[in-house]
Parts: sequence; structure tokens; C-alpha cells
Amino acid sequence: MSAGGDVSQDKIQKVTIIGSGPAGYTAAIYAARANLEPVVFAGGPTLEHPQRVPGGQLMVTTDVENYPGFPEAITGPELMERFQKQAERFGTVIHMENVTKVDFSKRPFLLESESGIQVRSETVIVSTGATAKWLGVKGEDTYKNRGVSACATCDGAFFKKQDVLVVGGGDTAMEEATYLAKIVNHVTLVHRRDSLRASKVMQERALNNPKISFLWNSAVEEVVGDGKGMTGAVVRNLKTGDSQLVNAHGLFVAIGHTPNTELFQGILETHQGGYLKTIPGTTRTNIEGVFACGDVQDSYYRQAITAAGTGCMAAIDAERWLIEHGE
Ligand code: NAP
Repeated sequence: MSAGGDVSQDKIQKVTIIGSGPAGYTAAIYAARANLEPVVFAGGPTLEHPQRVPGGQLMVTTDVENYPGFPEAITGPELMERFQKQAERFGTVIHMENVTKVDFSKRPFLLESESGIQVRSETVIVSTGATAKWLGVKGEDTYKNRGVSACATCDGAFFKKQDVLVVGGGDTAMEEATYLAKIVNHVTLVHRRDSLRASKVMQERALNNPKISFLWNSAVEEVVGDGKGMTGAVVRNLKTGDSQLVNAHGLFVAIGHTPNTELFQGILETHQGGYLKTIPGTTRTNIEGVFACGDVQDSYYRQAITAAGTGCMAAIDAERWLIEHGE
């Protein structure tokens, strides 16, 4: 499915953007306003990642209270709809599908999508974001979508008046637990240490919520169920070594993310954690004319506003690169 116009397969595009979170759409807005007629591959679900949606991680977030310009907060999906509309307003062409192949060995670069759309492009901006991590414990895969989830806003409603577990000690875990507490009977938050990594305001919200209790210094060892659905989890206290079975119908894993770089393995240089390397202070990658922005290259800040900021940088870097190369 495409939006905002059509792209002739013979035409050489000036800028093609892979990914449609705050970074990708900001890059599109800037590139479009610079008359670079950007094409965006917005992504979507895949077999390995059925929960992936165009718009990125904000699509599975509730209220965003820290995006400047929205003093009353805005929901993640609404914010992303506005990003998309703003990109479209200036003529961005959007394909709601994944790029499955890239050839960065010569210019123009070649990109191919899952439906077979081929785009040749002078520059490419990579803004493919990051995906939630899983625990990798016994029973987790068996009960995925039958209790185990990485998205409370997507799946929370299935657990009305039931008991659930949340794993993690960061902002995502606090957000998931607080959101779930409005729907479910009780939330038990399992964290491997005795202090939280989350911001103070998010911590306090969770710690003061009577429907959320905490199992500190603890790890989920196994997800158990009756074959049809999850019924509980074995949780081990890492200090004492004692294990207990906690009855719960849901387990929400909120332990951070992995950058989405499968498409660029062996092509674009990465740091140890798999995040794309950029030349400090720029969005340039190791390949001339390929730029990276947003969470795919940021293991540290990982905020919508910083992603948008680097998206702006990538569009300006691409524009200047095109000028330098006589385009
Ligand atoms: P995060 O900050 O990296 O936190 C991950 C948490 O999971 C940590 O507490 C970590 O424990 C724990 N963890 C990691 N691997 C684990 C494992 N294998 N088993 C058990 N626990 C494990 O990730 P995040 O919470 O997703 O947040 C990512 C970024 O997004 C942060 O910058 C955050 O501020 C931001 N964010 C903001 C909002 C908001 O403002 N509304 C909402 C969500 C996220 P340790 O603490 O022991 O390392």
C-alpha cells in the first residue's frame, strides 16, 4: 500500500528513508521541504516480528508527556499520525511495507520491498528503530500471545481482572505496570536488582500504586501453563536462590530493545550492541551517501525527541551530501 503519490521504478530518487518512527518521518519532513521528494518505506509486521507496526515504538505507547509542544500530553499513535500527515503534506511518498533487500555496493543504491517495489536512490536514510527484547526462558515462546507479551497497550485488555507479571526496572516496565494496573486485578513487577533504573516520576507512580507489588532481586526462570494459556511463572530470588511459583495469566517483558539492523548485516558498521555506527556529530555511516538516525544508532538517549533531532540531521546531511556530489 502506498500513500502520497507514486514512484516510477525507473526514476532515481534523491532520498529514500527506511523506517517511520519519529526519526524517519522527521527526516522525511525536512527532505520534502527541501524539494528532495523523499520516499519512505514505513515497515510493518513480519513473520519474526508480528507486533511491528508502521510508526515505530510510539505506536505502542500510551501518553507521551515529555514531547515538547504538547503540554497536556498526546498519545503515541496520535503523535505519529501527525508526523506522518506532516511528511505527506510536503509530498513524501509512503509505502506501508518493509524493505527486504538493499544493495549499497554502488550508486544509485538499490532497495527492494517485500511486494517487489524496487527503488533506486542517490542517498538512503536508515531509521529502522529497535525491537523489544525477550527473556529467553523456558515456556516464553510457547506462551507468546497466550499470556506472554511485550506490549501492554496491545494486549493488556485480554487480562481484565486477572493477575499479571511485568519484568524490568526501566521506564517501559513502570509504564506497562501502571497501565496494566488500570485493567487487571494485580501486577507483580519482577526486577533483577533492588533499585529501579526508571525516571523518578515513573518510579513513584508505580511504587505508590496499591495494585502493583514488587519482587526485588528476582528473575523469571520459567513460564508455565496448561498448554492452552499461561498460568504462572517460576520466579527465583537471586540473593537467596529460592524459587516460587507465582500464579499469573500474563507476563509482560519490558527489558529493553535490540536495534533493527538485520537488513544491513555485513554492510553497515555497528557497535558492540549492534547499534549502527555513525561518524560522531553527524549521521554519516561507513558508506558514503547512507545515513542513520533514531534508535537504530542510539543506545543511550532513545527518546522520541532525540530520534526526531537526528532525523532532522540525517535529512540535512543527505541534502548537503547531494549538493557536494553535484546532484
Ligand atoms: P532500559 O532503560 O534499558 O531498562 C531495561 C530494564 O530491564 C532494566 O531495568 C534492566 O535491568 C532490565 N533488564 C535488561 N535485561 C534483562 C534481562 N535479561 N532480564 C531481566 N531484566 C533485564 O529500557 P526501557 O525501559 O525500555 O527504556 C528505554 C529508553 O526509553 C529509556 O531511555 C527510557 O527512559 C525511555 N522510555 C521513556 C518512556 C517515557 O518517558 N514515557 C517510556 C518508556 C521508555 P537493570 O536495571 O538491572 O539493568
